[in-house]
Amino acid sequence: MLSNRALFLRHLAPTSPSPLMIEVERAEGLYFYAPDGKRYLDMISGIAVSNLGHRHPAVLAAIQAQLDRYLHVMVYGELVQSPQVRLAEALARQLPKGLSSVYLVNSGAEATEGAMKLAKRYTGRPEIIACHKAYHGSTQGALSLGGEAFRQAYRPLLPGIKHIHYGSFRDIAQEIGPQTAAVFIEPVQGEAGVVYACPAYFQALRQRCTEVGALLVFDEIQTGLGRTGRLWAFEHYGVAPDVLLLAKSLGAGLPLGAFISRPEVMQCLSQAPVLGHITTFGGHPVSCAAALAQLDEIIHTQVYAEAEEKGLYLTRQFKHPAIREIRQKGLMIALVVESFAVLKPVIDRALELGVLTDWFLYCDQAMRLAPPLNISQTELDEAAQLLNQAFQESFS
Ligand code: PLP
Repeated sequence: MLSNRALFLRHLAPTSPSPLMIEVERAEGLYFYAPDGKRYLDMISGIAVSNLGHRHPAVLAAIQAQLDRYLHVMVYGELVQSPQVRLAEALARQLPKGLSSVYLVNSGAEATEGAMKLAKRYTGRPEIIACHKAYHGSTQGALSLGGEAFRQAYRPLLPGIKHIHYGSFRDIAQEIGPQTAAVFIEPVQGEAGVVYACPAYFQALRQRCTEVGALLVFDEIQTGLGRTGRLWAFEHYGVAPDVLLLAKSLGAGLPLGAFISRPEVMQCLSQAPVLGHITTFGGHPVSCAAALAQLDEIIHTQVYAEAEEKGLYLTRQFKHPAIREIRQKGLMIALVVESFAVLKPVIDRALELGVLTDWFLYCDQAMRLAPPLNISQTELDEAAQLLNQAFQESFS
């Protein structure tokens, strides 16, 4: 019989020529384990997914309870399913007034697609603006908003998309106008390698969108649910979006996404024609039950309040001369070195030492660190010690 690794290489369609190839036997808390018992410290949370670590007991209990009730019963938006409505209500309670209508989908890309359609329908305008080096997903619409590196091989993509420079006041004034249906932006750019702008920039963006009647869409798919030290990253800037995108950590390890707006905006997807966005599995009851349990836990423990301190603590542990810059917001961290050629041996050595890290889509010379928010002091120290060892041994 072929090994699982052999089957992986033979039958799983690849996305890269060099997958990590560690087989997972089980996962618990901050760690996952290979079949030979080797333990790995997960310093990236499945790319900003497991904000409370793997298999949090409250999440498991909610999943188990829902398994005993029902799985899929009907496409989204027809039957009243308590996990969906309770989650939507709980999210609305944590959001600025008005952001109370929640469309539940399967993924981040689908949340982006839904919001793009929503913006066109609501405003009747053709143009959508996004930032250079943005990442909003990999489907054709979402990809159209993304950075050039991943777009160029898939043209023609969507027409009517314009890109602005993240953080540029000039671009806000010059590019956003009466043709603009929406501006999509990440409050902290994840795949650009933890890049963010000052509050005044987001305030100017908010003001300009309001002036011209464009929807301001915050993609918090990576930053949401506490990752940056606040429940929502937009809280750092004192501005609220018209549409909020969530996914990744939302489902607590199960697939789930959402786009959220004001009821009068969302209304337009239900008429002329009806069914403006359709999804079979969006808002799966088991995913929603998990999401609700996790949200309750996050709110109850306020675990995100420690993210900034933990992030700062971690960054202070790295002194290796190869690290040229550290960018950090809460527990979103980029350790920048000279090049991918310099970084890759460090990441590989860290993996051998039992620490999983990664790099970023548009910034392959930076190590990505995004551990679960409930990482303990002992685990922070373990990560720092092993990563410093990986840096040292890669340059000796
Ligand atoms: N938006 C942001 C900011 C992301 O980081 C991602 C995924 O990395 C997405 C959207 C796409 O989410 P998904 O992979 O669930 O489609």
